[in-house]
Amino acid sequence: MKDLKQYMNGKWIESSNLEKIEIINPATREVIARAPKGSREETEEAIKIAKRTFESGRWSDQSPQERAVVLLQIADILQENMDVLTDLEVQNNGKTKREAQSDAEEAANTFRYYAGLLTMPNGQAYEASKDMQTLIVKEPMGVAGLIVPWNFPLLMSVWKIAPALAAGNSILLKPAEITPMTAVKLFELIDQTDLPKGAANLVMGTGPVVGQTIAESEDVDMVSFTGSTGVGRQIMQAATGNMKKVSLELGGKSPNIIFDDADLETAIDYALFGIFMGSGQVCSSGSRILVQEEIYDTFVEKYVEKAKGIRVGPGNDERSQMGAIVSEKHFESILDYIRIGKEEGATLALGGHRMEKDGLDKGLFIEPTVFTHVTSDMRIVREEIFGPVVTIQKFKDEEEAIKIANDSEYGLAGAVFSKDQNKAIRVIKKVRAGITWVNAYHLTTIQAPWGGYKQSGIGRSLGTYGLDEYQEIKQININLDPKPIHWFE
Ligand code: NAD
Repeated sequence: MKDLKQYMNGKWIESSNLEKIEIINPATREVIARAPKGSREETEEAIKIAKRTFESGRWSDQSPQERAVVLLQIADILQENMDVLTDLEVQNNGKTKREAQSDAEEAANTFRYYAGLLTMPNGQAYEASKDMQTLIVKEPMGVAGLIVPWNFPLLMSVWKIAPALAAGNSILLKPAEITPMTAVKLFELIDQTDLPKGAANLVMGTGPVVGQTIAESEDVDMVSFTGSTGVGRQIMQAATGNMKKVSLELGGKSPNIIFDDADLETAIDYALFGIFMGSGQVCSSGSRILVQEEIYDTFVEKYVEKAKGIRVGPGNDERSQMGAIVSEKHFESILDYIRIGKEEGATLALGGHRMEKDGLDKGLFIEPTVFTHVTSDMRIVREEIFGPVVTIQKFKDEEEAIKIANDSEYGLAGAVFSKDQNKAIRVIKKVRAGITWVNAYHLTTIQAPWGGYKQSGIGRSLGTYGLDEYQEIKQININLDPKPIHWFE
């Protein structure tokens, strides 16, 4: 069994804390590795290394072109190791091979994208007056602390690492304590490239110790966090000490609005993909399906029929279409929400149980679960369950659809299905969310900014906005005709 080590200053280091975290394969509940439970002191040490490296200019002073070369090396080495990364993600997170492979491909593409962006102009020039030229330049922040969740362990790390390094920062990554496997592999691969040692560091451990230390540290210039809204709030508070910049990608409870004039087959297909991809453990999941009353019964009947056919099983079995739930704790929390839904009086139209047949009792599998006849005040409609559980709610008209869609503290994603393009665009523009679709779900591109409204976060990942998150902006005013202005004469 592999004993994982921390990675600092280009070296693999034994944690000073001898206590370990057992890393479990959720499809079998077997222990696959032991990870360090990093201490406050070693987190501080990693932050110091990142700071020293930043100040040395070994990475931050390289030209954009030089940095782009290194990012492309990382992309290439990820590409060469696609299968290893895919298998590790399947083993550690429980997702299917198809899902893990798509994450690994997007990870390599993200490095390529930011390498390309580095070759584009990245600033502005103004002529303030005849004798005054103003330049707007962008500079790295310094040390970026990156804290990621367990649902896309590799991809969420890369969405942060690629732009943070592209901008010239030094970084410190903290993976979720239960899913460090692909992060460790990623750093093993980065170690083989020309990235200067100390520019990228990895510290594993718990949120309250390693995460909190990063958020509080006066030597960290920005913290970029993806995870739950509750922890996001704690990070914001911890960051006040040195007023570090905070970038937050948080939870969601996203509406998927289906009008009676939608292409029913397409709407059902995407509404299934929208919630059951990743076993519903996806921040942007369409966990609230809203269906117009005229087609409600037909939609529910056909939707449930199709959902019944989803093959649930271990991610490494090519036949599996939906994988395991990431951990015992999260598994219990989802089953708890299913119990709450029943108690609240929602109709359980499908699923609702753990899966035990065909050897699935060894792992953490839950049936695709559908609740119908729900109301906006129910906890299963308001709270992020983060599992394969969807609610289907009825609406009368456009106005009511928008009202229900926006009746949430979250504002991450949303979709509208209708053949009437004017109506679809009218409605999607009223949905208070950062990531939206018309007649589709979950399909996005690295070029487009990713993030939420309301309590779904602050800031954006990906695209040019994603690079801006990791940069300071400076104005340089240049006097072209230097002579005294005699203000005090
Ligand atoms: P989480 O908030 O429990 O943990 C996320 C990370 O924060 C982990 O690395 C954890 O160790 C760390 N952490 C925990 N307590 C901390 C503290 N006090 N200080 C600093 N760090 C701390 O989230 P999770 O359960 O791992 O992931 C699921 C959540 O992530 C869901 O709410 C989901 O919606 C959200 N998510 C959002 C996006 C997005 O792009 N908006 C993407 C993926 C996941």
